[in-house]
Amino acid sequence: MSPHRVAFIGLGHMGRPMARNLHAAGHPVTAFDLSDAARAEAQSDGLAVAGSLEDALRDAEVMLTMLPAGKHVLSVWREALPQLKPGTLLIDCSTIDTVSASAAHDLARDAGFASLDAPVSGGTKGADAGTLTFMAGGEPEAFARARPLLEAMGARIVHCGAAGAGQAAKICNNMILGVSMIAVAEAFVLAERLGLSAQALFDVASTSSGQCWSLTSYCPVPGPVPASPANNDYRPGFAASLMLKDLGLARDAAQASGATTPLGQHAHAIYEAFVDAGGGEADFSAIIRRLREGGTAVG
Ligand code: NAD
Repeated sequence: MSPHRVAFIGLGHMGRPMARNLHAAGHPVTAFDLSDAARAEAQSDGLAVAGSLEDALRDAEVMLTMLPAGKHVLSVWREALPQLKPGTLLIDCSTIDTVSASAAHDLARDAGFASLDAPVSGGTKGADAGTLTFMAGGEPEAFARARPLLEAMGARIVHCGAAGAGQAAKICNNMILGVSMIAVAEAFVLAERLGLSAQALFDVASTSSGQCWSLTSYCPVPGPVPASPANNDYRPGFAASLMLKDLGLARDAAQASGATTPLGQHAHAIYEAFVDAGGGEADFSAIIRRLREGGTAVG
């Protein structure tokens, strides 16, 4: 593997461990974040840290962004593009709306650069362990160049198709996840009312047609799956606020594309009510608490 000089922009919960893994795999990383605290943490990880975006981009062969939302990605890419050396590859690993993802690809293409959207699943644990799944969209040549870098941060790398296909895969997957978690939680609430034990429901559903990841990995009641956040007072895991963000992206994409996603929209409303009531920091499986209580968006 030939090392790539990477400018890594965005050193938050995900970006910091991802940058660390790239560095550990032998890629020279220069990291930048607007936050002084994030830069100091990256420095304590042994990364080269730049004091400005411009300094981070000097000599970069790849610019990788891991930022909160589409507006941040577009703003950094707009500022960066005039400063990049010819041939630099741009990779965005953030989870962003499909419209901004297309706009970012257009900006890069118009300036003569190759680009890839490559959002991830696996959360902070996967980022730490270097076991993320990457879902990539872009030209095959861009994907081939990015692959060794993504392999340094992930265990599963999937080329989903043309520009934007990675973001599309990410939000479709997470819409399934949000809807299926609510379905699983509803079943446990109904079972409680019917006098059926959680373990009995789990034993049947986990080996029957109700089987799904929300049940077998993130079971929303304590007991049947010892490692699920329900056994740890619903500490994330995958925070409900992030699920709400992804369901919002799915809803926006459905509106923009004319797709009909009634359950995705209802799941968004249920998570929105939960987050508005203060549940945003809890794991998304804690939605079972709201379903037990009942609530306006649920009724
Ligand atoms: P975070 O808020 O912890 O980190 C984002 C970082 O970007 C912050 O440190 C912030 O200071 C920095 N930043 C913002 N604007 C900037 C700019 N203009 N220039 C430089 N730095 C800037 O977020 P996170 O949890 O690391 O998530 C990053 C992305 O990954 C999001 O799109 C999120 O949806 C996605 N994601 C997160 C998880 C998760 O479990 N946290 C899982 C999968 C995907």
